[in-house]
Amino acid sequence: VTDVSQATVAVEEPAGEIEHVDVIVIGAGVAGLYQIHALREAGFSVLCFERGSGVGGTWYWNIYPGCAFDTPSEAYGYSFSKELLQEWNWKHRYSRQPDTEEYMNLVADKFDLRRHIRLDASVVAAHWDEEGDYWEIELASGERARGSFLFAAVGQYSKPYIPAIDGLDSFKGVMFHVSRWPREGIDLAGKRVAVFGTGSSAVQLIPEIAPECQQLTVFQRSPNYSLPVDNEPVSPELQQEWKATYDEIFAHVRNGHMTRVEPDPRNGRDVPKEERLAMYEEAWATRRASERVMCLFHDLLSDREILAEYSEFVREKIRARVDDPAVAEKLVPTDILFNAKRVPTETSYYETFNRDNVLLVDLRETPVECFTERGIKTSEREHEFDVIILSTGYDKVTGPVTEIDIRGVEGRSLKAKWDEHGLSTLLGLAISGFPNLFITNLPCLAASTARAELTGDWLTEALLYLRSNGYTRIEATQEAEDAWNKHHQEVGDSMVFGESKNSVITGANIPGKKEVYMLYCATAPAWMARCNEVSGAGYRGFELSRST
Ligand SMILES: Cc1cc2nc3c(=O)[nH]c(=O)nc-3n(C[C@H](O)[C@H](O)[C@H](O)COP(=O)(O)OP(=O)(O)OC[C@H]3O[C@@H](n4cnc5c(N)ncnc54)[C@H](O)[C@@H]3O)c2cc1C
Repeated sequence: VTDVSQATVAVEEPAGEIEHVDVIVIGAGVAGLYQIHALREAGFSVLCFERGSGVGGTWYWNIYPGCAFDTPSEAYGYSFSKELLQEWNWKHRYSRQPDTEEYMNLVADKFDLRRHIRLDASVVAAHWDEEGDYWEIELASGERARGSFLFAAVGQYSKPYIPAIDGLDSFKGVMFHVSRWPREGIDLAGKRVAVFGTGSSAVQLIPEIAPECQQLTVFQRSPNYSLPVDNEPVSPELQQEWKATYDEIFAHVRNGHMTRVEPDPRNGRDVPKEERLAMYEEAWATRRASERVMCLFHDLLSDREILAEYSEFVREKIRARVDDPAVAEKLVPTDILFNAKRVPTETSYYETFNRDNVLLVDLRETPVECFTERGIKTSEREHEFDVIILSTGYDKVTGPVTEIDIRGVEGRSLKAKWDEHGLSTLLGLAISGFPNLFITNLPCLAASTARAELTGDWLTEALLYLRSNGYTRIEATQEAEDAWNKHHQEVGDSMVFGESKNSVITGANIPGKKEVYMLYCATAPAWMARCNEVSGAGYRGFELSRST
């Protein structure tokens, strides 16, 4: 529920003066909301600017039919409030977007966060003031505010990416990116609809809308593996079990697991092949979503030989669900291993291609030439549509940060720095040349809420340390940043994750973007250990100083 009038109270200021708070937070998603709470509880004044008209970030923007978690619900919620854990009931094993948006709004209300948040407020610039040790931000409306610290909680997936295809603007029908589904809804009944792209969102969307459309045409550039989610309502008994065991659940989540499912401690290759295959089958038949994989060998995703075997197993599962073998072959990823790209979860995705009103266009066989007034022209023919839904991904991690004109010491541009060197940080949090700026969207592999809490607590501690020692400025050294980048890259190279071409994991889906791992591909405990080493040594790798 948007109450802009109440939210704007937070920027009460005498006319003509620019409000100055301790911390400006950009973004009111999972990370931003927790950050506001943690900072305020520690006694800092906070002001948050959010582009959307509501809170929740991803769960505010992504209202397309079928949008849901691929993380089990019980592992996704915030863990910081026992009261919240007992109050909130997840409706589905993998929460659907409307429920998650409701949850995010509950959090904002329950912890009285709205008075710190300004909605419909897009930050377009942030400039560092070297004399006064503060950041001055500018909104699209021209309004300004100042913060001694600036936290960019702008998300990984908040900047949609639309490729520059010839004629894109000439289409006369309705066209939008899947993450910008019209809030007022759209009636697809009797319409000729295209879904352009088959990433995680498309895989959730396609089965939901296919029965409604007169004709649905799916344009696929490269197939990926998906896991059947087998979502279902949470029974009252299970809800109670979760509530009774949240301590245990979150201990696992903070240890880098998404659920309480323990991997088999054996190495895959130490188990006879027949037993391995039987284990894959058993897990597929009895478990759901990613638990099908997580219960298998601990080294399944890193031993390429075993992973190749598992990839073939999943390919066979796909083939078995599609009636036309030629269509099945188009849907089967043969050139990448399982998990080389983020693996989405699905419900009846493959069966949808058995419907008479659904057509799969393989863009590797018939590449797109251009968009036209009437639709999409491939090398084979023109396809006509009333509605085109672009599911073309995101400019991940760096995109949402660099679309803000961020200027650090001596007016240097963060975008220019990252354009030249690629993503470059210390601990995934700080950047040399940009004092008192922290980005919170990339550090490690973990469920996002756990990551938001870990990051939020560590950064709040850092600010408390600065305050109690009288420091007003903290900046990563270039030397420490270079060492971190090297380590960050080495960790990524050791994973199968990111091997695939055109993957968002290395930013390769964006033409011209320097290819480096967009995430620190280690688990939350490994990343936290590094962070704690740094803070334990008086913020080694950072320069701390006092304004003169
Ligand atoms: C469809 C989808 C499904 C997902 N499913 C899962 C899942 O199951 N499990 C999981 O762990 N993760 C999932 N994710 C990742 C998801 O983004 C995170 O779980 C989490 O929501 C990230 O929270 P965040 O606060 O870091 O970023 P976001 O939720 O993206 O919030 C960032 C906010 O910053 C705002 N913002 C950005 N730039 C500006 C600006 N310049 N000015 C003002 N405001 C700005 C945006 O409007 C946005 O509201 C999914 C992502 C998508 C897109």
